Amino acid sequence: MSVQRRNPAPGGGLPSAESDRDRLIGLGERSFQKSYYPELRKRLQELEHFRALLDHSGDLIFMADPDTGRIQDCNQTACRAMGFTRQQILGMGLEDIISEADAFVVPGENGSRIVHGVRTARGGSLPVEATRVQHVVSGQAHLIIVARDITARLKAERALGESEALFRASFEQAATGMVLLDLGGRFIMANQALADMLESSPKELAGRHLRDVSHPEDMDMALERHASFVTDQEPTHQYEQRLLSKTGNLVWVRLHVAKITGESGQALSIIAHIQDITENKRAEEQLRHQALHDPLTDLANRTLCQDRISHALLRAMRRPEAIFAVAFLDLDRFKIINDSLGHPFGDSVLREVAQILAASVRSIDTMARFGGDEFVLVLEDLTSYGEAVRILNRVRKAMAEPMLLGGQEIRLTVSTGLVFGPGESVRPDDILRDANIAMYKAKEAGRGRMKVFNKRMREQAGVLLSLENDMRRGIAASEFFPLYQAIVRVEDSTLAGFEALARWRHPTRGLVNPALFIPLAEDSGLVVDMGRSILTQVAADLRRWISMETNGHGPYVAVNISPIQLARTEFVDQFLKIFQDQGVPLDRVRVEITETCMMANPERALAILNRLREQGARVAVDDFGTGYSSLSYLARFPIDMIKIDRAFISKLGTDEESLEITRSIVALGEKLGRVCVAEGVETNRQHLMLKALSCGFAQGFLFSRPVGAAAAEVLMARRGSLLAATE
Ligand code: C2E
Ligand code: MG
Ligand code: MG
Repeated sequence: MSVQRRNPAPGGGLPSAESDRDRLIGLGERSFQKSYYPELRKRLQELEHFRALLDHSGDLIFMADPDTGRIQDCNQTACRAMGFTRQQILGMGLEDIISEADAFVVPGENGSRIVHGVRTARGGSLPVEATRVQHVVSGQAHLIIVARDITARLKAERALGESEALFRASFEQAATGMVLLDLGGRFIMANQALADMLESSPKELAGRHLRDVSHPEDMDMALERHASFVTDQEPTHQYEQRLLSKTGNLVWVRLHVAKITGESGQALSIIAHIQDITENKRAEEQLRHQALHDPLTDLANRTLCQDRISHALLRAMRRPEAIFAVAFLDLDRFKIINDSLGHPFGDSVLREVAQILAASVRSIDTMARFGGDEFVLVLEDLTSYGEAVRILNRVRKAMAEPMLLGGQEIRLTVSTGLVFGPGESVRPDDILRDANIAMYKAKEAGRGRMKVFNKRMREQAGVLLSLENDMRRGIAASEFFPLYQAIVRVEDSTLAGFEALARWRHPTRGLVNPALFIPLAEDSGLVVDMGRSILTQVAADLRRWISMETNGHGPYVAVNISPIQLARTEFVDQFLKIFQDQGVPLDRVRVEITETCMMANPERALAILNRLREQGARVAVDDFGTGYSSLSYLARFPIDMIKIDRAFISKLGTDEESLEITRSIVALGEKLGRVCVAEGVETNRQHLMLKALSCGFAQGFLFSRPVGAAAAEVLMARRGSLLAATE
């Protein structure tokens, strides 16, 4: 028989522990003390334990009448949680306490669930997870409701949800690219910024693999880094790689990767922050490029060229059969183009030269510009020495083709010095020096030549390299002097005049030709002082010759004036003064200038030439046909004499074109009232042809080589044909 049935507690609930005990003890005292007391006491204790267990349960426990819903009992936890006394609760109906109306829906990851609310004394509602079971005791059914307070859990869940939302928002809206990868390198999710970088969408990227977006050249590196990062101990890691966007655009990125670890520290996934550094890389690349390239032509600069030569040397050290060649190219008389046609024009010529080089060499060859008109080629992987020569001949041939630039026809020649490696020199600078020495040797031999370096050249080069200093000293020491070459009438080979040609009597090198020192003198500006020295001596010689004349009809002297000299503002005054000081009338003087001289600054050139002519001097255009002038200049300029370049005259008997050109120049001269002088006449045949063409004057070894002043006086004394004189 149950206790509660005998003594139902008010409200139909379980009797309280105290009242039960009191009653039982009373009974026991009276009726069952002897036989049942110990048993009852034990039961009572059990009941008390049971009660205590219930009261200390973390859950709210209620017992209710299944029919009426009246609460019959509850534990202390329920009282505490609700803030009611037990008595108050026992009076309530189940619906008052835990009503369906208070139930609310909690959204969760695996679908939403319903949470009930337990009413509290303060009018609030305690979220609980409740179970209800029917329990039958001695035929009487009871409803047992166990409700677990889930306030804390809901709070934690909410916090988790919030932090998840926060993560998602910061992931999705981050300005840098972000991707969550599984350990195998597959994308779990990617954000919009990364999608933008790859011209894709986050949806498209999910499920893709690191492999799918990596640049082919960086793929192995990227996969290897990912794999080793997954297994190593480092929590984070940084590296750079190239990605390819959906449309194939290259994207340079910096990745900061971090592991997302589980409770035991094992890696679960990888998160990567991906920063687009394409612009930085481009800027970096540009800087690097600029540091190693010539800004004008975009060819390699000296630094890069030296590096390539080092590379060739290293390879040759490993494999002695790996021959290479270094060629030093210098444009002939480029300074004149620059000075006469202007620097912007000179620049476009240099750019054109770079193009010509690029079209003539192999793709593996290095082309460099060392500033000015100096170019260097590094030819590696040669099968033979002959191959280098073939490549350079190709370059020289292409270079010799007339170049049409801004309406001007330019003819270039290039002097080339060639060094083969591996040789004795093992430093790039030494190899370059050797190539440079060979180039100077080529220049010395005349325009458009190529010389292969040999050791003897190096010995001679010491002198050559100090030539500029020597020249400065030599001018002061009067080592420069004129030789005179006769200019004759073609008709009867009688003397008409002389051309003064500078020579340098070097104390150790002997007689040096202008082909070597004039370019050097022009480059250094020393040509001004040298020119003055030559002019002074010419003026002195002329004065002496005039004083010896009986009829006052002696030969004239033509002097060569470099564009560098002509460009000096004081030139005309100095020139006039030199001859006036000697009392030499200027009608005995011819000024030889090249075509390009007139074109740098036509107005200025015109003014200078006019001034010289006013004083009686005559003007000759030297090396006609090789320069860059248009024929209209010839008509516009106050020119008296055209000197047809030796290039045409030397081929007169052999080359139809040269003959035609010479014929046209002579005809043109006649039309414009200019006399023509054929330069470099060496054979009788050439002389005869000139006669047939009615060319007025000639100059050349056939009549006389350039000779000293005394020998010139001997020529003057001859009255008749100089041919007869030399025969
Ligand atoms: P250029 O004014 O055209 O002088 C003619 C050159 O042709 C001279 O060379 C002369 O020796 C050479 N020549 C003459 N006839 C023949 C021939 O039949 N066969 C061959 N193979 N050559 C012949 P050079 O004396 O070596 O002078 C070279 C250049 O140096 C001159 O060319 C001139 O442009 C320049 N130059 C010479 N003297 C002076 C000077 O005092 N001042 C300046 N600024 N330049 C000078
Ligand atoms: Mg001349
Ligand atoms: Mg000439």
